[in-house]
Amino acid sequence: MHGLLAREGMAPTELLERGRAEVRGYGGHVVNGEVADAAREGDGFTVTLVDGKSVRARRLLVTTGLVDLLPEIPGLRERWGRDVLHCPYCHGWEVRDQAIGVLATGPMSVHQALLFRQLSGDVTYFTHHSAGPDTEQAEQFAARGIRVVTGAVTAVEVADDRLVGVRLADGTVVRRDALSVAPRLVARAGFLAGLGLRSVDHPSGVGEYVPADPFGRTEAAGVWVAGNVSDLAAQVGAAAAGGAVAAAAINTDLIAEDTRQAVAALRSAESR
Ligand SMILES: Cc1cc2nc3c(=O)[nH]c(=O)nc-3n(C[C@H](O)[C@H](O)[C@H](O)COP(=O)(O)OP(=O)(O)OC[C@H]3O[C@@H](n4cnc5c(N)ncnc54)[C@H](O)[C@@H]3O)c2cc1C
Repeated sequence: MHGLLAREGMAPTELLERGRAEVRGYGGHVVNGEVADAAREGDGFTVTLVDGKSVRARRLLVTTGLVDLLPEIPGLRERWGRDVLHCPYCHGWEVRDQAIGVLATGPMSVHQALLFRQLSGDVTYFTHHSAGPDTEQAEQFAARGIRVVTGAVTAVEVADDRLVGVRLADGTVVRRDALSVAPRLVARAGFLAGLGLRSVDHPSGVGEYVPADPFGRTEAAGVWVAGNVSDLAAQVGAAAAGGAVAAAAINTDLIAEDTRQAVAALRSAESR
């Protein structure tokens, strides 16, 4: 959230704290802790934390996001979210007109190069371990003035706490101000195994997600998901909107259950 929110003067942690304060203001409880496991128990769930504490719930809304798996290149991880970037919509404006590198890591890398080309006339595409652009893509790169550098990238060069270049296996250093990398996006969902839920390969090839219907309902009854855990491309706005949609769907489900139980109780009382 470095781009939009930071420019408006709000740090991501402050946004989180404001949201939590709002939840508490409506009588909700926020528990700090890492969930280790979730299990079905009776007509609800027990969520167990790493510290051994547990929480009961009638329904679950899972919003644990994803992990960005970066290529193992020395120096890369330390620059992540600073001058090693992935999303032009998040921080593209901050690197406009700079010398930008795009490290080929997956199916979206060519698109990523064309995206960053909108922001700078100086874009270099590093093929790294990929086969490189195909004939059509190479023509597109030539037409857009995107330079292609073949060979494995072995390090990210940093000076005065700034990325200054990309080192290749043959020792060449290509000067760059920023490097765009598409990480593999993997939903944080390991703790859902006890409910029969797991992340699966996303059809786009960019990572793993927990599938759900448009309201966030998963194939495990009573369990909903929202945000990056299910929608790998969601930014803050879409993740929050997903939570609101799922919350209304959960409430609808609870209303139905409460009503079923009330009708059953009424019938039972009438039959006495
Ligand atoms: C470098 C970078 C820059 C970005 N910049 C922007 C931007 O400028 N604008 C924008 O809109 N988006 C931006 N994004 C995307 C944005 O961060 C995501 O869209 C958003 O955070 C998704 O929200 P989420 O709630 O789904 O997941 P997250 O924000 O990842 O929240 C998941 C939460 O679940 C917690 N969690 C995970 N596992 C467990 C567990 N087992 N138990 C308990 N808690 C757990 C995590 O600690 C985390 O707090 C950026 C992303 C990156 C990586």
